[in-house]
Amino acid sequence: MAIFVYAENINGVYKKAAFEAVAYAKSIAENAGDSVTAISVNPTDSSDLLYKYGAEKVINIKDEGLKNFSAKAFAQAVNEVFEGKIIVFPHTTDASSVAPMLSILKNYSLITNVLETPENLSPFQVKRKAFSGKGFMHAKSETEGVILTVSQNSFGAKENPVSGTEEIKNLSVSNDDTKVLSHEQSTGKLDLKEAEIVVSAGRGMKAAENWGMIEDLANVLGAATACSKPVSDIGWRPHSEHVGQTGKAIAPNLYVAVGISGAIQHLAGVNSSKTIVVINNDPEAPFFKSADYGVVGDAFQIIPALTEKIKALKGA
Ligand SMILES: Cc1cc2nc3c(=O)[nH]c(=O)nc-3n(C[C@H](O)[C@H](O)[C@H](O)COP(=O)(O)OP(=O)(O)OC[C@H]3O[C@@H](n4cnc5c(N)ncnc54)[C@H](O)[C@@H]3O)c2cc1C
Repeated sequence: MAIFVYAENINGVYKKAAFEAVAYAKSIAENAGDSVTAISVNPTDSSDLLYKYGAEKVINIKDEGLKNFSAKAFAQAVNEVFEGKIIVFPHTTDASSVAPMLSILKNYSLITNVLETPENLSPFQVKRKAFSGKGFMHAKSETEGVILTVSQNSFGAKENPVSGTEEIKNLSVSNDDTKVLSHEQSTGKLDLKEAEIVVSAGRGMKAAENWGMIEDLANVLGAATACSKPVSDIGWRPHSEHVGQTGKAIAPNLYVAVGISGAIQHLAGVNSSKTIVVINNDPEAPFFKSADYGVVGDAFQIIPALTEKIKALKGA
């Protein structure tokens, strides 16, 4: 029986996390001697992108009624085509709200934020992240099937090219519970959750008008900008940039934290980043304990100098 995976797209374009979920599903399929079937709703991207990560089959749901996201309607659509015992979702905002709805529809257990390939397939057992990344847990499924969400950047989008086939499934799922009245674009040029590099700043920047240097550094690095909670609470930055336990959880390849103390609630949203660079003038700042690289010094001197250095390197 195939291992299924939900390949999330935004406006038809596959998310990076979808490729990681396909790669994760492929690793389970290889252990189980199975194949991978990916499900996507109204994609415009080519299925070739999913074959590249190991999906032998792609089921493209076409449904005009699902142009706007609704967790309930998307779960119903996935339920129409999912015929297996295991389905993998990326742990993104939208996908991690579809997964529990599907778990109810199927009466399958739900294991979120998985970090590694399963320890056992029957019964299904896997390591997962717990307590906002401060601990781990080994979870065992006791139902006939299991629904998983993969913690972003935990497994990696490993390529495993196969030749695949595509099936179009026309559906018309009811999506009447919520009406979208208007769309509001967040100010950042890059999607914070998808960005490979994030430059983030905190109260150490002293005032909203000092953010120009943070944006300059982000621009030269091709990074998205983020901030700590108090910064968005004061109104120095928009709430869409707030990361942490009560903000967005992100897992970029590089997280640069400027003038942020590293409170546990902040770390909860960023500690899955691959590499963390901390710039802070207090050598005792707690963030240094979680840093891969630390710079002790005044951000107002370091950030412009760093930006110039990177510009020079890029120009060379
Ligand atoms: C229930 C709850 C939920 C929370 N959720 C979140 C959350 O989701 N995200 C979040 O961020 N916080 C959250 N918080 C708040 C959190 O506890 C901290 O208060 C907050 O993260 C601190 O923000 P900060 O690091 O920007 O500010 P501060 O703690 O004031 O730290 C500023 C840092 O800047 C440094 N600094 C000062 N001047 C300079 C300079 N010139 N150069 C370099 N460094 C300098 C200082 O040494 C200091 O380390 C939450 C709190 C609670 C109680």
